[in-house]
Amino acid sequence: MCGIVAYVGKKPCQSLLLEGLKRLEYRGYDSAGIAVIQDGALRLCKAVGRVSNLEDKLESIGNFSGTIGLCHTRWATHGGVTEANAHPHTDDRNGIAVIHNGIIENYAALKTYLQEKGHVFKSQTDTEVLAMLIGELYEGDLEKAVQAALREVTGAYAIAVMCEREPGTLVVARKGSPLIVGIGADEFIIASDASAIVAHTARAITLEDYNVVRLTAEGFRTSTIHDVPVTPRIEQLELELQEIELSGHSHFMQKEIHEQPKALRNCFRGRLDAKDGRVILGGLADHGKQLTNLRRVVLTAQGTALHAAMIGEYMIEDLAKIPSIAEYASEFRYRNPIIEDGTVVVAVSQSGETADTLAALQEARERGALSLGVINVVGSSISRNTDAGVYLRVGPEIGVASTKAFTGQVAVLAMVTLFLARRRFMSADQCADLIRALETVPDKIEAILAQNDRIRRVTEKYVERDNWLFLGRGYNYPTALEGALKLKEISYIHAEGMPAAEMKHGPIALINEGMPAVFLANRGRQYEKVMSNIQEVRARGGHVIAVATEGDEEIRRYAQDVLYVPDIPECLSPMLTVVPLQLMAYHAAVLRGHDVDKPRNLAKSVTVE
Ligand code: GLU
Repeated sequence: MCGIVAYVGKKPCQSLLLEGLKRLEYRGYDSAGIAVIQDGALRLCKAVGRVSNLEDKLESIGNFSGTIGLCHTRWATHGGVTEANAHPHTDDRNGIAVIHNGIIENYAALKTYLQEKGHVFKSQTDTEVLAMLIGELYEGDLEKAVQAALREVTGAYAIAVMCEREPGTLVVARKGSPLIVGIGADEFIIASDASAIVAHTARAITLEDYNVVRLTAEGFRTSTIHDVPVTPRIEQLELELQEIELSGHSHFMQKEIHEQPKALRNCFRGRLDAKDGRVILGGLADHGKQLTNLRRVVLTAQGTALHAAMIGEYMIEDLAKIPSIAEYASEFRYRNPIIEDGTVVVAVSQSGETADTLAALQEARERGALSLGVINVVGSSISRNTDAGVYLRVGPEIGVASTKAFTGQVAVLAMVTLFLARRRFMSADQCADLIRALETVPDKIEAILAQNDRIRRVTEKYVERDNWLFLGRGYNYPTALEGALKLKEISYIHAEGMPAAEMKHGPIALINEGMPAVFLANRGRQYEKVMSNIQEVRARGGHVIAVATEGDEEIRRYAQDVLYVPDIPECLSPMLTVVPLQLMAYHAAVLRGHDVDKPRNLAKSVTVE
């Protein structure tokens, strides 16, 4: 969510900061700001809206430069979207500037305390409270003041702080929100995401919670908020620059939809052994025994990842015969959940930073559950807080609307299912059959992508309609939810996904002449039932767009438009049926003139609860 970029070194840093900020634009934000220390004085510039607005403003100011600086894109949590609320925030005494991602939960009590001490606030944000608190505790050493302030706050933060009185020193810290320190030659680039760093250096420290780093052009020191020295782990960032560039595509979402075959081949590489009918998941190997004796699986996630988790629930019950449930992490964690012996909790998240999912995981671990992660971003908070896990390996996902991470999550959950199933009731032959089917998924997705133009033409017919339904049964009920979510999040069309049978219990009242209803009608156990549901919609004037299995000519009699996907065992079909829905959502948003990669109000990785 939102972004932080900071620099300390020997070069003027304004353009480096802005270029980094633009790489983080995909994370979603509503305003932006920058601060540098120039000739010993703090200078600030803020603007509501895009980073380009900030750039325009900087240009009109002219001569804005320094060898230490910080900049921020804000996704407002406390206080409206105004220039005054945009970061950086400053204290009122020492020339301290702070940028912050996250939420200071006890900001109200701290604000009252600081107001009583005579501090005057200019914004409604929780962040300004932190800036003032650091200022209040400042006694000539910024690092100590930051440590002291962070000992007083609760909540989540990634922060970068500098002070006019120590113009060569930058202090950064994190708890709950991501922050990476890139190590260059005589310089440091700090950012909330590796994509803002890789153009400059691949050496980096990923901070642990409650770590504070004091940086100057000459070197750095890492400690905890209690000033206990920490030996930092220096790592190599794996990200390639071309992975985070558009490479000829109009949007990251488009690029990522089309990358799915390659991404899934990567995801499967070295993990599928059709000859012996087994799945090799190194990340789970150490827990084989515990996983053999499992009694219950709880999959937990939010958004698109929850839809993948729901498919995981169906697969694990159906194939591995273990009672499973997929639940919103935000609900699970506050429900006083029952964790019995033999429960495994699987956290599913692209970024591995989803605050709700992380918190649910911690709750479950404290209650004794074994925890697994199904995560894309290596080294992310969730992946570091699980007992074991399987990475997606689909490459960085920049598009706010998740696409290749979804198919990657379903693919990984399918492999986890086979891994578990083989330890229980599944024969090597049955497993081998499913592995061979899994191996066909990338080619089959390619075949669907080749129908892109036709899918766009079908979308064009309905793009003016403001209400859509997505309906499916069994394995494709979660796909229906995902199709509706894709459409609403980037095209702002109201869409509802539901089990096809549920429609009769109320939502059927919505159907009027020409209302688009997308049916997941591929061949499967409930095919005939889906056909009946299609008739019910048609009888009331709805327009049916069916996603059907290649060769199903019959369905043309019932649906106005048919989009075909290749045949595959039903349990794996969501990885195919979702693809036309992703493309429809993409085209609908483009046709409606929306910025697909920067959808309204949305942020990529949701690091606040
Ligand atoms: N809570 C802070 C605010 O509303 C930071 C939000 C963010 O992470 O961008 O300003």
